[in-house]
Amino acid sequence: KKGLSRTQENLVGRIDTLLLGKKQIDADTLEELEEILITADIGVATSVELIRTLEQRLKRNELQDGEALKRALREEILARLEKHAAPLDIASATPFVIVVIGVNGVGKTTTIGKLANRYALSGKRVLLAAADTFRAAAAEQLEIWGERAGVDVIRHQEGADPSAVVFDACKAALARKADLLIIDTAGRLHTKINLMEEMKKIRRVVGREIPGAPHETLLVLDAATGQNAISQAKLFKEAAEVSGVALTKLDGSAKGGIVVAVSNEFQLPVRYIGVGEGVDDLRDFEPQQFVAALFQ
Ligand code: GDP
Repeated sequence: KKGLSRTQENLVGRIDTLLLGKKQIDADTLEELEEILITADIGVATSVELIRTLEQRLKRNELQDGEALKRALREEILARLEKHAAPLDIASATPFVIVVIGVNGVGKTTTIGKLANRYALSGKRVLLAAADTFRAAAAEQLEIWGERAGVDVIRHQEGADPSAVVFDACKAALARKADLLIIDTAGRLHTKINLMEEMKKIRRVVGREIPGAPHETLLVLDAATGQNAISQAKLFKEAAEVSGVALTKLDGSAKGGIVVAVSNEFQLPVRYIGVGEGVDDLRDFEPQQFVAALFQ
Protein backbone atom coordinates (compact mmCIF):
# COMPACT_ATOMS: atom_id res chain seq x y z
CA LYS A 1 0.00 0.00 0.00
CA LYS A 2 2.92 2.27 0.68
CA GLY A 3 3.37 4.85 -1.99
CA LEU A 4 0.11 4.66 -3.83
CA SER A 5 -1.85 7.27 -1.92
CA ARG A 6 -1.30 10.08 -4.40
CA THR A 7 -2.23 7.88 -7.35
CA GLN A 8 -5.26 6.73 -5.41
CA GLU A 9 -6.38 10.36 -4.91
CA ASN A 10 -5.64 11.24 -8.51
CA LEU A 11 -7.60 8.33 -9.92
CA VAL A 12 -10.21 6.95 -7.58
CA GLY A 13 -10.58 10.21 -5.66
CA ARG A 14 -11.57 11.95 -8.86
CA ILE A 15 -13.82 9.12 -9.95
CA ASP A 16 -15.64 9.43 -6.61
CA THR A 17 -16.12 13.14 -7.24
CA LEU A 18 -17.44 12.41 -10.71
CA LEU A 19 -19.92 9.88 -9.37
CA LEU A 20 -21.05 12.02 -6.47
CA GLY A 21 -24.81 12.41 -6.65
CA LYS A 22 -25.06 10.64 -10.03
CA LYS A 23 -28.25 8.62 -10.02
CA GLN A 24 -27.47 6.81 -13.20
CA ILE A 25 -24.46 5.87 -15.27
CA ASP A 26 -24.68 6.86 -18.93
CA ALA A 27 -22.44 7.44 -21.95
CA ASP A 28 -21.54 10.93 -20.71
CA THR A 29 -20.32 9.52 -17.42
CA LEU A 30 -18.06 7.14 -19.27
CA GLU A 31 -16.75 9.95 -21.41
CA GLU A 32 -15.81 11.91 -18.30
CA LEU A 33 -14.30 8.79 -16.82
CA GLU A 34 -12.12 8.38 -19.90
CA GLU A 35 -10.66 11.82 -19.30
CA ILE A 36 -9.84 10.94 -15.70
CA LEU A 37 -8.13 7.71 -16.77
CA ILE A 38 -6.01 9.55 -19.31
CA THR A 39 -4.96 12.26 -16.88
CA ALA A 40 -4.11 9.55 -14.33
CA ASP A 41 -1.49 8.31 -16.83
CA ILE A 42 -3.19 5.06 -17.69
CA GLY A 43 -2.36 5.96 -21.26
CA VAL A 44 -4.66 6.92 -24.12
CA ALA A 45 -4.79 3.48 -25.75
CA THR A 46 -5.54 1.64 -22.53
CA SER A 47 -8.04 4.26 -21.38
CA VAL A 48 -9.97 4.04 -24.64
CA GLU A 49 -9.91 0.26 -24.45
CA LEU A 50 -11.21 0.28 -20.87
CA ILE A 51 -14.03 2.67 -21.75
CA ARG A 52 -15.07 0.55 -24.76
CA THR A 53 -15.37 -2.45 -22.48
CA LEU A 54 -17.32 -0.46 -19.93
CA GLU A 55 -19.67 0.77 -22.68
CA GLN A 56 -20.46 -2.83 -23.51
CA ARG A 57 -21.08 -3.58 -19.88
CA LEU A 58 -23.34 -0.52 -19.68
CA LYS A 59 -25.35 -1.85 -22.63
CA ARG A 60 -25.73 -5.15 -20.82
CA ASN A 61 -27.13 -3.20 -17.83
CA GLU A 62 -24.25 -4.21 -15.63
CA LEU A 63 -23.50 -0.69 -14.44
CA GLN A 64 -26.56 0.33 -12.43
CA ASP A 65 -24.77 2.77 -10.17
CA GLY A 66 -21.43 4.31 -9.27
CA GLU A 67 -20.39 1.39 -7.12
CA ALA A 68 -21.03 -1.05 -9.95
CA LEU A 69 -19.03 1.14 -12.30
CA LYS A 70 -16.09 1.30 -9.92
CA ARG A 71 -16.22 -2.43 -9.37
CA ALA A 72 -16.26 -3.04 -13.13
CA LEU A 73 -13.34 -0.69 -13.71
CA ARG A 74 -11.36 -2.39 -10.96
CA GLU A 75 -12.04 -5.81 -12.53
CA GLU A 76 -11.03 -4.64 -15.99
CA ILE A 77 -7.79 -3.07 -14.76
CA LEU A 78 -6.94 -6.13 -12.70
CA ALA A 79 -7.59 -8.46 -15.64
CA ARG A 80 -5.18 -6.48 -17.80
CA LEU A 81 -2.49 -6.42 -15.15
CA GLU A 82 -2.84 -10.12 -14.42
CA LYS A 83 -2.54 -10.98 -18.07
CA HIS A 84 1.12 -10.00 -18.10
CA ALA A 85 2.14 -10.22 -14.46
CA ALA A 86 4.92 -12.71 -13.85
CA PRO A 87 7.34 -12.49 -10.96
CA LEU A 88 10.96 -13.29 -11.76
CA ASP A 89 12.07 -16.72 -10.68
CA ILE A 90 15.81 -16.35 -10.28
CA ALA A 91 16.10 -19.99 -9.24
CA SER A 92 15.21 -21.04 -12.80
CA ALA A 93 18.86 -20.74 -13.91
CA THR A 94 22.29 -20.62 -12.27
CA PRO A 95 23.67 -18.08 -12.51
CA PHE A 96 20.54 -16.13 -13.33
CA VAL A 97 21.62 -13.07 -15.28
CA ILE A 98 19.75 -9.76 -15.26
CA VAL A 99 20.81 -6.93 -17.57
CA VAL A 100 19.44 -3.66 -16.26
CA ILE A 101 18.73 -0.81 -18.67
CA GLY A 102 17.15 2.62 -18.51
CA VAL A 103 18.06 6.27 -18.82
CA ASN A 104 20.08 8.03 -16.13
CA GLY A 105 18.26 9.18 -13.06
CA VAL A 106 15.34 6.74 -13.20
CA GLY A 107 16.65 4.74 -10.24
CA LYS A 108 18.64 2.00 -11.92
CA THR A 109 21.47 1.88 -9.40
CA THR A 110 19.08 2.08 -6.47
CA THR A 111 16.96 -0.74 -7.85
CA ILE A 112 20.03 -2.92 -8.40
CA GLY A 113 21.15 -2.16 -4.84
CA LYS A 114 17.77 -3.12 -3.45
CA LEU A 115 17.73 -6.35 -5.48
CA ALA A 116 21.27 -7.24 -4.41
CA ASN A 117 20.36 -6.70 -0.81
CA ARG A 118 17.15 -8.68 -0.99
CA TYR A 119 18.66 -11.73 -2.67
CA ALA A 120 21.85 -11.64 -0.57
CA LEU A 121 19.67 -11.61 2.55
CA SER A 122 17.79 -14.64 1.30
CA GLY A 123 21.10 -16.51 1.08
CA LYS A 124 21.79 -16.13 -2.64
CA ARG A 125 25.28 -15.52 -3.91
CA VAL A 126 24.98 -12.24 -5.77
CA LEU A 127 27.47 -10.47 -8.01
CA LEU A 128 27.13 -7.01 -9.56
CA ALA A 129 28.76 -5.71 -12.74
CA ALA A 130 29.35 -2.01 -13.37
CA ALA A 131 29.05 -1.96 -17.14
CA ASP A 132 28.12 1.72 -17.12
CA THR A 133 31.71 2.78 -17.65
CA PHE A 134 30.82 6.23 -18.91
CA ARG A 135 30.14 7.71 -15.52
CA ALA A 136 32.68 7.02 -12.78
CA ALA A 137 29.98 8.02 -10.30
CA ALA A 138 27.77 5.15 -11.48
CA ALA A 139 30.33 2.48 -10.55
CA GLU A 140 31.03 4.23 -7.25
CA GLN A 141 27.35 4.29 -6.39
CA LEU A 142 27.07 0.64 -7.25
CA GLU A 143 30.01 -0.15 -4.97
CA ILE A 144 28.36 1.66 -2.10
CA TRP A 145 25.22 -0.44 -2.57
CA GLY A 146 27.36 -3.56 -2.99
CA GLU A 147 29.20 -2.93 0.27
CA ARG A 148 25.95 -2.35 2.06
CA ALA A 149 24.59 -5.65 0.79
CA GLY A 150 27.87 -7.52 1.27
CA VAL A 151 28.05 -8.20 -2.46
CA ASP A 152 31.07 -7.86 -4.78
CA VAL A 153 31.09 -5.49 -7.72
CA ILE A 154 33.10 -6.15 -10.87
CA ARG A 155 34.30 -2.85 -12.31
CA HIS A 156 36.93 -1.45 -14.64
CA GLN A 157 38.24 2.09 -14.89
CA GLU A 158 36.14 4.88 -16.38
CA GLY A 159 35.86 4.74 -20.15
CA ALA A 160 36.61 1.02 -20.37
CA ASP A 161 34.73 -1.16 -22.84
CA PRO A 162 31.42 -2.22 -21.21
CA SER A 163 31.67 -5.62 -22.91
CA ALA A 164 35.00 -6.24 -21.18
CA VAL A 165 33.37 -5.63 -17.81
CA VAL A 166 30.53 -7.96 -18.77
CA PHE A 167 32.99 -10.62 -19.91
CA ASP A 168 34.90 -10.47 -16.59
CA ALA A 169 31.68 -10.47 -14.62
CA CYS A 170 30.40 -13.59 -16.36
CA LYS A 171 33.71 -15.38 -15.76
CA ALA A 172 33.64 -14.34 -12.11
CA ALA A 173 30.00 -15.38 -11.70
CA LEU A 174 30.82 -18.86 -13.01
CA ALA A 175 34.06 -19.21 -11.01
CA ARG A 176 32.36 -18.11 -7.79
CA LYS A 177 29.23 -20.15 -8.47
CA ALA A 178 27.05 -17.07 -8.18
CA ASP A 179 23.28 -17.54 -8.13
CA LEU A 180 22.57 -14.10 -9.52
CA LEU A 181 24.53 -11.69 -11.68
CA ILE A 182 23.09 -8.20 -12.12
CA ILE A 183 24.63 -6.06 -14.84
CA ASP A 184 24.24 -2.27 -14.74
CA THR A 185 24.47 -0.66 -18.17
CA ALA A 186 24.90 2.92 -19.35
CA GLY A 187 21.73 4.93 -19.69
CA ARG A 188 22.94 6.58 -22.87
CA LEU A 189 20.19 7.03 -25.35
CA HIS A 190 21.92 9.22 -27.94
CA THR A 191 20.35 7.29 -30.72
CA LYS A 192 18.37 4.12 -30.99
CA ILE A 193 21.04 2.61 -33.23
CA ASN A 194 23.66 3.36 -30.63
CA LEU A 195 21.67 1.70 -27.91
CA MET A 196 20.86 -1.31 -30.08
CA GLU A 197 24.50 -1.84 -30.94
CA GLU A 198 25.60 -1.61 -27.34
CA MET A 199 22.88 -3.94 -26.12
CA LYS A 200 23.61 -6.44 -28.86
CA LYS A 201 27.25 -6.49 -27.90
CA ILE A 202 26.51 -7.01 -24.23
CA ARG A 203 23.97 -9.75 -24.97
CA ARG A 204 26.40 -11.48 -27.29
CA VAL A 205 29.12 -11.58 -24.64
CA VAL A 206 26.74 -12.72 -21.90
CA GLY A 207 25.22 -15.42 -24.09
CA ARG A 208 28.59 -16.74 -25.15
CA GLU A 209 29.90 -17.03 -21.58
CA ILE A 210 26.66 -18.23 -20.00
CA PRO A 211 24.43 -20.12 -22.43
CA GLY A 212 20.80 -19.05 -22.21
CA ALA A 213 21.70 -15.74 -20.57
CA PRO A 214 20.66 -13.00 -20.12
CA HIS A 215 17.52 -14.41 -18.54
CA GLU A 216 16.04 -11.00 -17.98
CA THR A 217 16.48 -7.60 -19.58
CA LEU A 218 14.96 -5.36 -16.97
CA LEU A 219 13.94 -1.86 -17.99
CA VAL A 220 13.80 0.65 -15.15
CA LEU A 221 11.27 3.45 -15.56
CA ASP A 222 10.53 6.39 -13.29
CA ALA A 223 6.79 6.47 -12.67
CA ALA A 224 6.95 10.14 -11.70
CA THR A 225 7.82 11.04 -15.30
CA GLY A 226 4.45 9.80 -16.54
CA GLN A 227 4.19 9.92 -20.31
CA ASN A 228 7.95 10.22 -20.61
CA ALA A 229 8.22 6.77 -19.11
CA ILE A 230 5.82 5.53 -21.78
CA SER A 231 8.02 6.94 -24.55
CA GLN A 232 11.07 5.34 -22.99
CA ALA A 233 9.31 1.99 -22.78
CA LYS A 234 8.46 2.22 -26.47
CA LEU A 235 12.00 3.10 -27.51
CA PHE A 236 13.75 0.54 -25.32
CA LYS A 237 11.32 -2.18 -26.28
CA GLU A 238 12.13 -1.60 -29.94
CA ALA A 239 15.87 -1.42 -29.31
CA ALA A 240 16.71 -3.79 -26.53
CA GLU A 241 14.52 -6.89 -26.20
CA VAL A 242 13.11 -5.80 -22.86
CA SER A 243 11.57 -8.70 -20.94
CA GLY A 244 10.37 -6.94 -17.81
CA VAL A 245 10.00 -3.60 -16.10
CA ALA A 246 10.77 -2.10 -12.72
CA LEU A 247 8.75 1.02 -12.00
CA THR A 248 10.39 3.30 -9.47
CA LYS A 249 9.26 6.28 -7.41
CA LEU A 250 5.64 5.25 -7.09
CA ASP A 251 5.79 6.81 -3.65
CA GLY A 252 4.86 10.44 -3.83
CA SER A 253 3.86 10.19 -7.48
CA ALA A 254 0.30 10.66 -8.69
CA LYS A 255 1.17 8.92 -11.93
CA GLY A 256 0.98 5.31 -10.79
CA GLY A 257 -1.49 4.69 -13.59
CA ILE A 258 1.47 4.15 -15.85
CA VAL A 259 1.86 0.70 -14.32
CA VAL A 260 -1.33 -0.18 -16.20
CA ALA A 261 -0.22 1.57 -19.40
CA VAL A 262 3.20 -0.08 -19.52
CA SER A 263 1.86 -3.52 -18.85
CA ASN A 264 -1.13 -3.30 -21.20
CA GLU A 265 0.28 -1.29 -24.11
CA PHE A 266 3.66 -2.94 -24.27
CA GLN A 267 2.60 -6.35 -22.97
CA LEU A 268 5.46 -6.24 -20.56
CA PRO A 269 5.41 -7.76 -17.11
CA VAL A 270 6.00 -5.25 -14.33
CA ARG A 271 8.34 -7.25 -12.09
CA TYR A 272 9.07 -4.78 -9.32
CA ILE A 273 7.87 -1.47 -8.02
CA GLY A 274 10.01 1.04 -6.11
CA VAL A 275 8.25 2.77 -3.25
CA GLY A 276 11.07 4.74 -1.63
CA GLU A 277 14.78 5.43 -1.48
CA GLY A 278 15.54 2.91 1.27
CA VAL A 279 17.04 -0.52 0.75
CA ASP A 280 13.75 -2.24 1.65
CA ASP A 281 11.60 -0.10 -0.59
CA LEU A 282 11.26 -2.54 -3.47
CA ARG A 283 8.26 -4.82 -3.90
CA ASP A 284 7.39 -7.66 -6.19
CA PHE A 285 4.60 -6.30 -8.32
CA GLU A 286 1.33 -7.97 -7.38
CA PRO A 287 -1.73 -6.93 -9.39
CA GLN A 288 -4.22 -7.86 -6.65
CA GLN A 289 -2.43 -5.76 -4.06
CA PHE A 290 -1.88 -2.92 -6.48
CA VAL A 291 -5.54 -2.71 -7.44
CA ALA A 292 -6.65 -3.10 -3.84
CA ALA A 293 -4.45 -0.17 -2.80
CA LEU A 294 -5.74 1.91 -5.68
CA PHE A 295 -9.42 1.24 -5.02
CA GLN A 296 -9.28 1.04 -1.21
P1 GDP B 1 20.22 5.94 -11.92
O1 GDP B 1 20.90 7.15 -12.49
O2 GDP B 1 19.16 5.44 -12.82
O3 GDP B 1 21.15 4.89 -11.47
O4 GDP B 1 19.41 6.49 -10.65
P2 GDP B 1 19.72 6.34 -9.11
O5 GDP B 1 19.58 4.94 -8.67
O6 GDP B 1 20.98 7.04 -8.77
O7 GDP B 1 18.47 7.14 -8.49
C1 GDP B 1 18.21 8.50 -8.77
C2 GDP B 1 17.46 9.10 -7.57
O8 GDP B 1 16.17 8.50 -7.46
C3 GDP B 1 18.15 8.88 -6.25
O9 GDP B 1 18.05 10.04 -5.47
C4 GDP B 1 17.34 7.74 -5.60
O10 GDP B 1 17.37 7.77 -4.20
C5 GDP B 1 15.97 8.02 -6.14
N1 GDP B 1 15.12 6.81 -6.19
C6 GDP B 1 15.35 5.61 -6.79
N2 GDP B 1 14.29 4.78 -6.64
C7 GDP B 1 13.37 5.44 -5.92
C8 GDP B 1 12.03 5.13 -5.42
O11 GDP B 1 11.46 4.04 -5.63
N3 GDP B 1 11.40 6.11 -4.72
C9 GDP B 1 11.98 7.33 -4.48
N4 GDP B 1 11.28 8.23 -3.79
N5 GDP B 1 13.19 7.66 -4.93
C10 GDP B 1 13.89 6.73 -5.64
